[in-house]
Amino acid sequence: MAQAQRITPRAKDFSEWYGDVIAHAELADYSPVRGCMVIRPHGYRLWELMQRALDDMFKATGHRNAYFPLFIPMSFLAKEAEHVEGFAKEVALVTHTRLKATGKAGALAIAVDPTSALEEPLVVRPTSETIIYAMFAKWIQSYRDLPLLLNQWCNVVRWEMRTRLFLRTTEFLWQEGHTAHATEAEAEAEARQMLGVYRRFAEDWMAMPVVTGVKTQSEKFAGAVRTFAIEALMQDNKALQAGTSHNLGQNFAKAFNVQYQTAAGGLEHVWNTSWGVSTRLIGGLIMTHSDDNGLIAPPKLAPVQVAIVPIWKSDEEKSQVSRVGSQVKADLEQAGLRVELDLRENLKPGAKYFEWEALGVPVRLEIGPRDLAAGQAMLARRTGGKAPAPLAGVVGAVTTALEEIQRALFAAAQVRREQASVRGVTKAQFVDLMKGAGGFAYGGFCGGAACEAEIKEQTGATIRLLPDAEFRSPEPPKTCMWCGRPSVAEAVWAQAY
Ligand SMILES: [Zn+2]
Repeated sequence: MAQAQRITPRAKDFSEWYGDVIAHAELADYSPVRGCMVIRPHGYRLWELMQRALDDMFKATGHRNAYFPLFIPMSFLAKEAEHVEGFAKEVALVTHTRLKATGKAGALAIAVDPTSALEEPLVVRPTSETIIYAMFAKWIQSYRDLPLLLNQWCNVVRWEMRTRLFLRTTEFLWQEGHTAHATEAEAEAEARQMLGVYRRFAEDWMAMPVVTGVKTQSEKFAGAVRTFAIEALMQDNKALQAGTSHNLGQNFAKAFNVQYQTAAGGLEHVWNTSWGVSTRLIGGLIMTHSDDNGLIAPPKLAPVQVAIVPIWKSDEEKSQVSRVGSQVKADLEQAGLRVELDLRENLKPGAKYFEWEALGVPVRLEIGPRDLAAGQAMLARRTGGKAPAPLAGVVGAVTTALEEIQRALFAAAQVRREQASVRGVTKAQFVDLMKGAGGFAYGGFCGGAACEAEIKEQTGATIRLLPDAEFRSPEPPKTCMWCGRPSVAEAVWAQAY
């Protein structure tokens, strides 16, 4: 109990709660370098499971993995005007390549060797469009080389002033897809397809419902023609942009001279897309499902899906419950599940339960001498509820429980999101909402960047998306929620991470 109580309740301070959940689940820690995080094994396993599922989906849609350098010549960033504007204020730069001993003591013992200054400084990649399209220019000659469909898993660095574990860190892990196509229509279809992949991953794997749509011009990626995104609503009613997919048009192709010979013999610039999701998804997973006892991991991504906790008093009981526990573990692993058997001597069962709960393990099996006598184990769900399961059919019972938990988490998150979504919002309601409970506000938008900026300044809310048809209200709004001019599109506003 003591351990569970150390997690700050959500109602008291959501931000503290978030940090406590991460600490108790041993997902990540702050590093000696300000703004950077250390991803601990439990958190990294979660990332690996996410990576594997996403990577399979990328490959199933025809993409191949490659790897490009961490360093980008500074001049590359200047080639696409909007792009440099968007990233200039947050890049880390390598300017020297050597240190030298000074003969002084302590921290002063080494200094930058001024003779080692690079002729052209190198940017530590904030994203890799420029270096990748410089290579595409070399590899693409003919329409036969298209489409070129690549992805890379890597780290990127964006010098952030205010950081939060997983959500905003100076260095983070991600994947970035980069493709080149012969036509504008193919690039648009690709950008849309990958948005669909992200949505499927968020909903089917993370049990995190998302709204899909297009970003406004002021919120789009620097250098893109159009940015599509998936947006999720966290438990504090703030939005999280969980993944983006960009139709880059010919902006980078022109900047990097990526041309191909058409079947008819002409010369054309290619059409590019890029798309990415990052370790930010882990923050989204935490804030979508977890509770005041710690992490709740959706079964499909839980690093440990089942924790078996044998209960004993005597040595004889211990050997009995351990033997059965080992057998159950083997059977569950045989069925492809990720299982831990907790035989630690120094902890009482109750303390073990709290630990596995804080780690987000979806199902716990308790096996005591009385359970053995009855031929059963107690199956406890992380989301609540405990019932006996016959040992003879324990694999089936656990599998069913995991499937039910996965579905229930998605359903609960969807209900929560819809309850926090207001449609046909008026200006007065909107102001109240953004001062109070927050949530997704659907309303008319005039399309004016000035109006958008004023709303942001006065309420802290941004247009998360112009939602896709599926998410739009049955009655299209007639006027701008804020200024009353005619509406050009329905928009979803929220305060966001
Ligand atoms: Zn307006």
